[in-house]
Amino acid sequence: MSAKIFKLSSSVINQIAAGEVVENPASIVKELIENSLDAESMSIEVTALGGGQELIRIEDDGSGMSREDALLSIERHATSKIRSVEDLQTLSTMGFRGEALAAISSVCHFELKTSDGKATRILSEGGTIISVESCARNRGTTIEVRSLFYNVPARRNFQKSKSASFAAISRTVDAIALAHPEIAFSLNGKRFFPTTLKERIEEILGEHEHPVAANGILGFVASPEKAMAMRTGQYLYINKRPIFSPLIAKAVKEAFGTRISEHSYPRFILFLEMDPDQIDINVHPQKKEVRFRDEGAIFRKIQKAVEEAFIPKTSFAAPLAFNAPLPTSFAEHFLPFEYKVEETQLEWETPDVPLAVLGRFFLLQRKNLLLVDLKAAHARLLYESLSFEKSGAQALMWPLEIPILPEEEPKAISLQEIGVECRILKKRLVIDALPPWLESSDFPQFYAEWKGGKKMEEIATRFCRSLSKSFSIDQAIAMWREVQKCKDRLYDPLGNSIYTEIGEEDLAHFVLKGKHG
Ligand code: ADP
Ligand code: MG
Repeated sequence: MSAKIFKLSSSVINQIAAGEVVENPASIVKELIENSLDAESMSIEVTALGGGQELIRIEDDGSGMSREDALLSIERHATSKIRSVEDLQTLSTMGFRGEALAAISSVCHFELKTSDGKATRILSEGGTIISVESCARNRGTTIEVRSLFYNVPARRNFQKSKSASFAAISRTVDAIALAHPEIAFSLNGKRFFPTTLKERIEEILGEHEHPVAANGILGFVASPEKAMAMRTGQYLYINKRPIFSPLIAKAVKEAFGTRISEHSYPRFILFLEMDPDQIDINVHPQKKEVRFRDEGAIFRKIQKAVEEAFIPKTSFAAPLAFNAPLPTSFAEHFLPFEYKVEETQLEWETPDVPLAVLGRFFLLQRKNLLLVDLKAAHARLLYESLSFEKSGAQALMWPLEIPILPEEEPKAISLQEIGVECRILKKRLVIDALPPWLESSDFPQFYAEWKGGKKMEEIATRFCRSLSKSFSIDQAIAMWREVQKCKDRLYDPLGNSIYTEIGEEDLAHFVLKGKHG
């Protein structure tokens, strides 16, 4: 055959590329949400009609684009996210190929409304720009994809049913929402409000009983009896990106051992944080798979972390022998996930025998009994860590974000003075590390107390009292030990006693009075 060679037009090239990036409505939803995440949106609303084949709309409140950038964004290989191949090794954004918008817009009726302060509306059909004009929109971006694959009949005809297609979109939104609990999402009006990771997981996947926590690994596995016949209960994220990895699924399964049958799949949700140079993300067009630099190491690490999730934690009522070592680390109970406490230097220095915990009260035996008010102890510990020890901040595995008003910014950033490592990022306060005795899940409450601006004595005490915590005996022991090292170990910052002694006479008051008593 002899044929003349032509260079393909850019719209044909884009359509061919679209075959890789945009297989179906769900993959479009994924690409568009990832762009919204990269634009630092706090709220992402998704609408899908006809299983996404009639309409997909993604609306965000992110950075938006200027007119110039908006026009570039739908050109192939146009990206704001990398400049060189080396940048791939330190990639922190979801996107990097600069292909998605070009590919998507080449196979539909496409509308882009975006504003970085000044709003622009671009309409295109099959990749050809029809109009560019000013419009009204708050900061952020809305993208509408209509008549998907109208110009690619082969692909149009191979689409799934509307309901299957919608189910895939829904799973995509869920999978992304799971990794970004601080962001509000909605799909056709079904809403996920900003919350904690644990709550977001429970909302979407139901309860997963066993927390998994190791350096760089965070997540949950469901009890073995919840294992399924399919892989659909398995969620893996690497640096918050949903990833499919048979290797890691296998490591988890090995960790379940004989707890599940050979042909069932354990349910899990795991988040790995890895140095970008330990993985290669550029191996799959939709970035769904990665290559690990050291497969054996990651396999063993996952297996071990999941195995440990099944080791029973000492129960609340377990009696403790005098001088017993701590049965489980303080960190595991009190400060799940975020903290790594080195227990090794701590010695049980007091001769007191721990007896029991009831709510906020801790009972010890010395000569008399000691009744410790753990809330007062907590306030003392927190107060001293905020006042005297500025270097002990513990890095959070997942930075905590709370929305703040612009006028709050100067005050918020002064949290750094009390050992809270934080920064301001577009209407949000991002917390990277917290002083000891301040749990990230309690931080919003602390912040509310703190910005009221009273004295630290009062802030610490009121905050600790307001928490509705119950303490395990391990936590109580650890707190009591630490209180012994405080500058003032008798009183909370407002002068209330941390503990009181109870003698036999005091107990006499409690003796039940009989008939003749
Ligand atoms: P990539 O995400 O790989 O860079 P895309 O084609 O998905 O490529 O997007 C191209 C560019 O358009 C992005 O790099 C970004 O600068 C811009 N962009 C896309 N979507 C949004 C959005 N929702 N908000 C702000 N900018 C966006
Ligand atoms: Mg993208």
